[in-house]
Amino acid sequence: MTKPVVAIVGRPNVGKSTIFNRIVGERVAIVEDMPGVTRDRLYNKAEWLNHEFNIIDTGGIELGDEPLLAQMRQQAEIAIDEAHVIIFLVSAKEGITAADQEVVNMLFRSKKPVVLGVNKVDNPEMRDQLYEFYGLGIGEPFPISGAHGLGLGDLLDAVVDHFPTDLEVAYGEEAIKMALIGRPNVGKSSLVNALLGEERVIVSQIPGTTRDAIDTSFTKDEQEYVVIDTAGMRKRGKVYEATEKYSVLRSLKAIDRSDVILVVINGEEGIIEQDKKIAGYAHEAGRAIVIVVNKWDALEKDHKTMQRFVEDIRQEFQFLSYAPIVFLSAKTKQRLHLLLPEVKKVSENHHLRVSTHVLNDMIMDAVAMNPTPTDKGKRLKINYVTQVAVQPPTFVFFVNEPELMHFSYRRFLENRLRATFNFEGTPIHIISRKKN
Ligand code: GDP
Ligand code: GDP
Repeated sequence: MTKPVVAIVGRPNVGKSTIFNRIVGERVAIVEDMPGVTRDRLYNKAEWLNHEFNIIDTGGIELGDEPLLAQMRQQAEIAIDEAHVIIFLVSAKEGITAADQEVVNMLFRSKKPVVLGVNKVDNPEMRDQLYEFYGLGIGEPFPISGAHGLGLGDLLDAVVDHFPTDLEVAYGEEAIKMALIGRPNVGKSSLVNALLGEERVIVSQIPGTTRDAIDTSFTKDEQEYVVIDTAGMRKRGKVYEATEKYSVLRSLKAIDRSDVILVVINGEEGIIEQDKKIAGYAHEAGRAIVIVVNKWDALEKDHKTMQRFVEDIRQEFQFLSYAPIVFLSAKTKQRLHLLLPEVKKVSENHHLRVSTHVLNDMIMDAVAMNPTPTDKGKRLKINYVTQVAVQPPTFVFFVNEPELMHFSYRRFLENRLRATFNFEGTPIHIISRKKN
């Protein structure tokens, strides 16, 4: 499902990140610890009155050391490009500044709906200062206090009112939505073009796609695929497009809308830190994953080159040990035919459902092979296991003491699940719940 996107724009120190955190709330994600992956607080899920949306803190996108006004312009531009509704944040403490005025003019010209939040209205007496903000000409100012969590409900009501109603895109039920992520120049656009240019591929631009993203649908061997958001890969030549945080933002947006993620690596250059970070986001999102090593034509190869590359990837992306690897060249189309079958396979595995009795038999065997751990004289007892979800396959283990389900035993169980069923290309979530 496509969710609306909201962006917060405003001068430094008006309270953007405070408000962002308030709106996102303290969500506890079901993710394992993953060394080496930092969580950026610039793009996150949020919810208000049954409306789910994603929110961007444009202040979190560092734009180098350009002058303040240039940075604010770029942040406003990002909001205009990426969001359906913009929260323009000002501060009652400082009043309207020249920079505020400048940004308002840009937002105004863009015709995107803007909701004006006046932050730091910490007590009712300060409401008198609101009148000044009508002067910005973007409608009613909503008094809020990020510090005290006041006024956010009214602000969010106004935001939700502006959500577009035409976001649902009609893909075929069985369409596999895929996103290509990777740092700039690894060959993502070339790969999309190569896929669309293949023999027996029927391409259709999807009508009704939202104005911000152009998805492309194509059919190969009777399977429909949708490439998510190739618009993001079109070179628009804006200054901020080269910044790392912006490319992370684009990746997160694309991941959010996809079923299968192709993590694209430049085979010519090998793996660098930024690749790991991007792969980490893919893993955290719980989507099916294929690792693609592109530019395979550009390498001097001997009979061990591929094996060495596989070892490198397994070493560097330990958290993606389940993802298959495809080596190919978008340029020469060498080995390109291997990709879509792999995409289809991981998508099927992502949907795989195991029947409860087969699952419990398998777990009993696993426990017989490797007894459950004990702690302070108490032994973990697994009473019952059931699969509660697909995409990704999620298993709930009902146990006597959830704390006894240590990381190493969890990993053992995951390995047994993987050895028994075909979960190649999909993460697996294991949840333990107390039930005697
Ligand atoms: P950003 O640069 O726009 O992301 O602003 P921050 O969220 O980092 O906040 C800047 C400063 O304003 C911090 O010291 C916050 O504690 C403070 N601040 C944020 N919201 C409020 C508020 O509602 N009232 C007051 N008095 N201070 C606030
Ligand atoms: P993106 O930024 O990830 O979308 O990368 P592009 O598709 O724009 O490709 C970046 C550069 O790499 C371009 O100059 C492409 O011609 C080149 N390139 C893409 N795929 C291949 C490939 O398979 N082999 C070689 N040798 N070059 C490639």
